[in-house]
Amino acid sequence: MSRLEPRLLGIPVPRIGPESVPYWEGTRLGELRFQRCDACGAANFGPGLVCRKCRSRDLTWTRSAGRGEVFSWTVIWRPQTPAFEVPYAPAIVRLDEGYDLLTALVGLDHAEISDGLRVCVEFHEISPEITLPFFAPDPEHR
Ligand SMILES: [Zn+2]
Repeated sequence: MSRLEPRLLGIPVPRIGPESVPYWEGTRLGELRFQRCDACGAANFGPGLVCRKCRSRDLTWTRSAGRGEVFSWTVIWRPQTPAFEVPYAPAIVRLDEGYDLLTALVGLDHAEISDGLRVCVEFHEISPEITLPFFAPDPEHR
């Protein structure tokens, strides 16, 4: 058994593009943010200038509750760079607001991961600019 922990030092850092500034401001404040389309109501993520569903430009940044379920995952034993300690578990989490986020699972053993596992966000600062959202089992569903 090895509990998955966030990798915080030396890992490749995301680049902040102009559309994603509000997202990264949010993670630094402990808020998970996404865009909601004012025209069709769809959740829009990753950040963009137009709605993926209806192409409207009327997008409003919204705070996510940070809860969802594991949609897809893998467990990595051979990392792409030595900065990653193994095992780690990249995952697609489907947020309750209706969008998917690529993240990593923490706070559990890799053998405990399953389809539909309820998870909630936790934030870890990896640099002054970047705080990453990881997901751990939701204590309300244990
Ligand atoms: Zn739309």
